[in-house]
Amino acid sequence: MSADPNCIFCKIVAGQIPSKKVFEDEELLAFHDIHPIAPVHFLIIPKLHIPSMAQLAPEHERLMGKIMMLAPKLAFEQGCLPYPEGGFRLLCNTGTGGGQEVHHLHVHVMGGPRPWKRG
Ligand code: AMP
Ligand code: ZN
Repeated sequence: MSADPNCIFCKIVAGQIPSKKVFEDEELLAFHDIHPIAPVHFLIIPKLHIPSMAQLAPEHERLMGKIMMLAPKLAFEQGCLPYPEGGFRLLCNTGTGGGQEVHHLHVHVMGGPRPWKRG
């Protein structure tokens, strides 16, 4: 799956839509959610256009592992409070029934002092 010209996150990867970047390497991009629901709220995405977790294939295993390893590092760098009193929440909405609105795989990383807007 290469870039989808109609995908908003592919456009962010391509620099056609601006984002507040948290992290970037050759495979992944992390940027602040435009409508944060917690004091810390950013998204980690693969640069590759994978629509959702429903399309994951064996060749994506290393990439998904990399996202999971990156999440705590960036979460604490971005201001999530230390474990165990603090911490963070990961969320990966999958499919319309799962609450997914942008169909380019992304993991929400949320944290920081409560109360949050939701959850
Ligand atoms: P969902 O697909 O429901 O898991 O969530 C998509 C998320 O992407 C929402 O939290 C939106 O606020 C966020 N979002 C949509 N467009 C942008 C954008 N241009 N920059 C940053 N975040 C965005
Ligand atoms: Zn995309």
